[in-house]
Amino acid sequence: MKTQITMTTKMYKEMLEKLFPPDSNSEQFGFIITGISKHENGHNLLCRKFIHADESCLTNQSGVSVIPDPRFVQYVYNAVKECKGGLITVHTHPFSNGSVCFSGIDDRSEEDSFPKEVELLEKGPHASMVLGRNSVDARWYNAKTRQIKPIKAIKVVGESGTKVLTPTSQSEIYQDETINEIHNRQVLAFGKAGQKLIQKAKVGIVGCGGLGSILFIQLVRLGVRDFVLIDDDVVENTNLNRLAGSRFIDVKNKTPKVEMLAKYGLEINDEITVESIAESVFTSKAKYALKSCDYIFGGVDTQSPRVLLNSISIQHMIPYFDCGTGIQAAVDHNIEHAGGQIRTVIPGLGCLKCIKGINLDTAKMELLPEEQRQFVIERGYIAGEDEHAPSVAPLNGVIANLAVTEFMGFVTDCKPLSRYVFYDFLRSTTVPVEFPKNPDCFSCSEDSLLGSGDSNVALPEYLISECLTNV
Ligand SMILES: [Zn+2]
Ligand SMILES: [Zn+2]
Repeated sequence: MKTQITMTTKMYKEMLEKLFPPDSNSEQFGFIITGISKHENGHNLLCRKFIHADESCLTNQSGVSVIPDPRFVQYVYNAVKECKGGLITVHTHPFSNGSVCFSGIDDRSEEDSFPKEVELLEKGPHASMVLGRNSVDARWYNAKTRQIKPIKAIKVVGESGTKVLTPTSQSEIYQDETINEIHNRQVLAFGKAGQKLIQKAKVGIVGCGGLGSILFIQLVRLGVRDFVLIDDDVVENTNLNRLAGSRFIDVKNKTPKVEMLAKYGLEINDEITVESIAESVFTSKAKYALKSCDYIFGGVDTQSPRVLLNSISIQHMIPYFDCGTGIQAAVDHNIEHAGGQIRTVIPGLGCLKCIKGINLDTAKMELLPEEQRQFVIERGYIAGEDEHAPSVAPLNGVIANLAVTEFMGFVTDCKPLSRYVFYDFLRSTTVPVEFPKNPDCFSCSEDSLLGSGDSNVALPEYLISECLTNV
């Protein structure tokens, strides 16, 4: 079971500022209200709101202990219950400069508090975190076995990549990963540390056509080892112009695109693991598998899967690279417009809805029941299955490779991420585009669905307004 904690860089910085005030050596206390994302390998505890207990919320505070007021605890419990989430209890050991650990007092108090949390809240999982000045330790309570277990990793997601903090109790048993010599030339570019960050990442690719196939092959070559591939199509004759890795035999055998790619990837590097899901991304199996990924790439050509992936990215706090290409040709086959874009949704920094980057009306029409959908297709509002847009491999190659290049820079933190890159074929130019966050966007603001996980319930109103007045 791999249980980990995810938070935004913004929250992590704010938490450290509150927990280590410059003029105090007293232990500090707080709670984090989390969303919970359950996946096949365990749970991801998604940090939504950090609530610092100031002096008025404590009954005792010294350099060696800190005790919250029961009324403050009850206040936070009520909020956790309302948003059907989990709770992380946070405190500091301000005198710990090395590797911080839970004390005997912490052990005894948590043997009491964890079962109480399960009884009064839901089963969680709930967790606790202790911070020293340079390190962190964390653990969670398994309500089923009644055991306290270590948290495997704390992921801090922001504009300059995902930092993974290893809790003290994990670093002792942390096995140094080896690097396959296939990647020697890359190690020369971004070092062993960078290569390890790439090979630890689990990547989901939705849409394994012209874009997705190139994304997958380039990511395999880059060293990503763990994949989820989602696409319900089989290889067809008309795909051979752009579907990387496909051969005529796949057309003959009607091989699902995901299976063709998984086999091809394993021929490049037999250390990779691929979960191939030959189903629509809207099935529960596909959605469930995506929750275990560290990054998601979208290579889809319709609007409704984008709406879904945008939501998954925000709700489950997973960075999402949305890729798309388009060619507009006149009747005489003169290309009027052609190009593509990569838009990267980093949870907490804005989403595709913030920039009106998805056509929500089209998305709704795509999801209509069959009869009504035929009706809107006949009237030309959306394209039917038999109408195909122009598509060429080189353009897909440009966009897929630009996306993997941004991913490489983001994961290894060797360059600032361009969250929106637009490529114009006729002008042969690549232009960075603004990707502002809309403060009124309900999907991605911190006080609504960001990190809401499986519950998808907004944080209670009073908690938001209260914390806003504090700011
Ligand atoms: Zn302690
Ligand atoms: Zn948004």
